[in-house]
Amino acid sequence: MKRLVEHSSFYWVRYDRYELRRDANSLLYIMPAANAKPEIYNPLEVAEQITLDALKIGMKCMNRQPTARKREAVTGFVHKYGLLGLMTSLPTTPHFMNYEAVYLFRNHFIEQEAMSTEDYLSNFFPFGKLDIEKKGTEYEWNIEGDRDMRALALTFSEQPTAMNMSFQRQYAERFDWLVTQFRDLTFNLLGAFLYAEDYKKLDEDGRKLYQRGIAAFGSVAPTYHISLLDRPVLVWDFYSLLSELQMVSSVMLTDEERPVRLCRKCMEPFVADSPNAAYCPECGI
Ligand SMILES: [Zn+2]
Repeated sequence: MKRLVEHSSFYWVRYDRYELRRDANSLLYIMPAANAKPEIYNPLEVAEQITLDALKIGMKCMNRQPTARKREAVTGFVHKYGLLGLMTSLPTTPHFMNYEAVYLFRNHFIEQEAMSTEDYLSNFFPFGKLDIEKKGTEYEWNIEGDRDMRALALTFSEQPTAMNMSFQRQYAERFDWLVTQFRDLTFNLLGAFLYAEDYKKLDEDGRKLYQRGIAAFGSVAPTYHISLLDRPVLVWDFYSLLSELQMVSSVMLTDEERPVRLCRKCMEPFVADSPNAAYCPECGI
């Protein structure tokens, strides 16, 4: 897994404090608290740990868990690693600010295939808009706010504008969307677990059903480019923490030597020492 991302650089922003807030329609959001301090970090340095944490939260977000536990789990993740960057993961391109409208992949949150940029942005800035004027494919972003916000915008000025905007203090993510997203992230891991558990009991059709379920669950792939160092190398371009998590979790799930698995006893995700390990180190057999 390390080799796969060794030439990629990816920086993300987390704040030291987040808060839950309800908008006028009583929808619950999570966003940086007023005066919270941003910090830039490199998620690829802790790729395995973040992914494992995210998968554990995905398991806690399954329906049978009480709401308070889900809330605690998701809030804990956001405090540790920042928001997921849903705003740049749902559209067909993270450069959507350069287009007249926003075009969306099929997703669990927004039904329309396309919508105006302003309408789309309102999903992520329910408590205060950024000063952006959009006309056709052009836009102008007047960066305001305190020194931290201006410094952040400057630091990420080479990145797609939408990614840069998602680091600003006004950016919020809907709480129920995060719960669904964490659950989706764990879907393949759970599918692979159930498939292995039931394999002997399943007939050919049953197996095909499981196989199709997993195959149908594709995620939005990050883009990549080839960089010429002493030899050509593959460099992934991640524009959201979510796309990084989706890719790394898929790589970990299919790893031939140290795959991520669900423990047969406690159902916690863990990195197995061998492909056949069925129990986590705590339950260890
Ligand atoms: Zn266990």
